[in-house]
Amino acid sequence: MFAVHLMAFYFSKLKEDQIKKVDRFLYHLRLSDETLLDVMARFRAEMEKGLARDTNPTASVKMLPTFVRAIPDGSENGEFLSLDLGGSKFRVLKVKVSEEGKRNVHMESQFYPTPNEITRGNGTELFDYIADCLADFMKTKELTHKKLPLGFTFSFPCRQTKLEEGVLLSWTKKFKARGVQDTDVVSRLRNAMQRHEDLDVDILALVNDTVGTMMTCAYDDPYCEVGVIIGTGTNACYMEDMSNIDLVEGDEGRMCINTEWGAFGDDGALEDIRTEFDRELDLGSLNPGKQLFEKMISGLYMGELVRLILLKMAKAGLLFGGKKSSALHTKGKIDTQHVAAMEKTKEGLANTREILVDLGLDPSEADCIAVQHVCTIVSFRSANLCAAALAAILTRLRENRKLERLRTTVGMDGTLYKIHPQYPKRLHKVVRKLVPNCDVRFLLSESGSAKGAAMVTAVASRVQTQRKQ
Ligand code: BGC
Ligand code: MG
Repeated sequence: MFAVHLMAFYFSKLKEDQIKKVDRFLYHLRLSDETLLDVMARFRAEMEKGLARDTNPTASVKMLPTFVRAIPDGSENGEFLSLDLGGSKFRVLKVKVSEEGKRNVHMESQFYPTPNEITRGNGTELFDYIADCLADFMKTKELTHKKLPLGFTFSFPCRQTKLEEGVLLSWTKKFKARGVQDTDVVSRLRNAMQRHEDLDVDILALVNDTVGTMMTCAYDDPYCEVGVIIGTGTNACYMEDMSNIDLVEGDEGRMCINTEWGAFGDDGALEDIRTEFDRELDLGSLNPGKQLFEKMISGLYMGELVRLILLKMAKAGLLFGGKKSSALHTKGKIDTQHVAAMEKTKEGLANTREILVDLGLDPSEADCIAVQHVCTIVSFRSANLCAAALAAILTRLRENRKLERLRTTVGMDGTLYKIHPQYPKRLHKVVRKLVPNCDVRFLLSESGSAKGAAMVTAVASRVQTQRKQ
């Protein structure tokens, strides 16, 4: 009995010491409430800069009009194709929407691989590949003879002047296909499809994944007016008053704005918050100097941040008795899945040991506890930063409507948000703390953004039919 108590005592002392050590070393990654309120204020200013005609050209947060003017009203129906490119997986789907009293959606889908040769090769080949996958899907689903409307979920920043057109401003995340930037991706896809005899498809809408997520969630909850992705990349959209959108003619009603918040800080606005690890990670990325906010938050970068920190700590003799391994020196050896596994409440510590051993290290109990805490600090910072930007959007929505209190729903999606054991809880808590005058409901998009893209396509196709009549 005494021995058990003694062990528990030693363990908690050990834990306390490790946590203190890591906290001291990563002091700069721990953001106070005050700092978060400051980030929130800075993001509010960025939104205004992006929305105004004069400042938009130099704004790093682009606030892109999406030409989506309303959330679904339940009257959408028909059969649609949907492509989902740019998230963790490339997917082709068929979505069937029927109104018939109750809202009803049926989806069938197929994943296709996107090897580096495709995502970082020649742009025309990328679109040919997408068309090939679509043709394959239609063949297996016996749809080849049907002419179906298609919604294209394309998770990159695009400048749109209408729903069925979008000029790629820049690639992000793992994509860097040549000769696509500054071109209209809808016509690129249309051209690729024309080279296929057996493809007869009408591309009616280009939809960012945040917009798809918002629409998916709004189909079930009419209060939903914000969409957030925390996955490979990160971004958010929300419904803005037309009178505040300088770049689109008209003052009536609202339009969804794709904020592209991942680029927050690209003009230096976050330099005081970025750390040496953020700078090193950026230098080794596919797009140095770009998407700096995203690189502090999203799943593509989180594991790498942890790796850079562990390496530095090992070099300083603070971990693994100062020993390093070649895996620890290798870019990409720690990913978000690892971080999530290490932060599991029960198995976390055992997972940490296993992961470190796999990396060729020989960790002590103290090392494992310290590494776990490094993961917590990195993922907590991510959730905090997202919360600050989201809080700015919620405040804007409340002020647009001149409300004392705002009741609203945020549609959520993304692999990091979905697989990390504590992430959602932390994010929700910080948002509620930052905007005490908002009653926020967070709704997970169970079926992904493609369902929402189909809703957008459904509305577009109804408008098209009405025009033809
Ligand atoms: C892209 C956004 C996208 C986000 C989440 C970012 O890298 O720029 O358009 O919504 O990733 O997929
Ligand atoms: Mg996605």
